[in-house]
Amino acid sequence: MPMENYERIIEKISKLSNIPSQEIERKIEAKRAKLSGLISREGAAQVIAAELGISFDNEKLKIEELLPGMRKVNVVGKVIGVSPVRTFKTKKGDDGKVANLFLADETSNIKVVLWDTNNIHLIETGEIAENVVVEISNGSMRDNELHLGSFSAIKATNDSIGEIKTGKVFREKTISELKNSDNVRVRAFVVQTFEPRFFYVCPSCKKKAVQEDGGFVCAEHGKVSAEKRALLNIIIDDGTETIKTVAFQDNLASLGITEFENMEELINQREKLLGKEMFFHGTVRNNKLFNTPEFIIEKAEDIDSDLLIKELEN
Ligand SMILES: [Zn+2]
Repeated sequence: MPMENYERIIEKISKLSNIPSQEIERKIEAKRAKLSGLISREGAAQVIAAELGISFDNEKLKIEELLPGMRKVNVVGKVIGVSPVRTFKTKKGDDGKVANLFLADETSNIKVVLWDTNNIHLIETGEIAENVVVEISNGSMRDNELHLGSFSAIKATNDSIGEIKTGKVFREKTISELKNSDNVRVRAFVVQTFEPRFFYVCPSCKKKAVQEDGGFVCAEHGKVSAEKRALLNIIIDDGTETIKTVAFQDNLASLGITEFENMEELINQREKLLGKEMFFHGTVRNNKLFNTPEFIIEKAEDIDSDLLIKELEN
């Protein structure tokens, strides 16, 4: 349900501004058109909210409603993971601390970064740990993370919480908005496809197997009969920018690429893919070799024609 988040945000803006949601949606689309589609719908919604003078201050928000740039955020969620507390030297030479935790509610999940030693102390004493429901007040959104500074508070609460959403969350962004380690959904055209490349993996651990003496060797499992795997690089363009993507074997079928033996058929499949507009779900990572961002496709989805018609009608 990719539209859910956006619709929820519109409802919220509508409620707080007393403007019908259709009107809000029109304003958002007009804003996007004015900016030549350079920002995502969620980003445009945030701009409209600011223009309407809406403050989400002291509103209890669902995680899905948290948008980049929001301040004074209040949210309740269950801790689903805590990373070890790290220390670092501040510019003044003092010892600083930082801790991360992951918070989930019924709608989504998010990384929370704690910078305040009083808040971090609650993790060190175990008062805040996995499965504890916490209430956060006065947090700030930095990109897609919730940051808690010295004016923020986090405390255990007895609030009950429904079935939490722990799966990977893909937020909608344009290619120009992408940052390293984002989990996002991008709507874009395939503008270039490359020859698939092949590599070999160990059948047990699926790690890379190295060719040696006419056979294959896994670092862990020794001599193995390796599986041949394919990967495909394609370049996608959404009008804001282009990005190089990588799709591995398990995700190639969603791009319509299934043939690796019959070269003629493979060329056909690549030609069909070229120029196609799709939704791409995946993660942004830095290509270490070239120091450029790269999009790892986890799922490609045809654009629902009903949805397109609905958007055109609006
Ligand atoms: Zn192995």
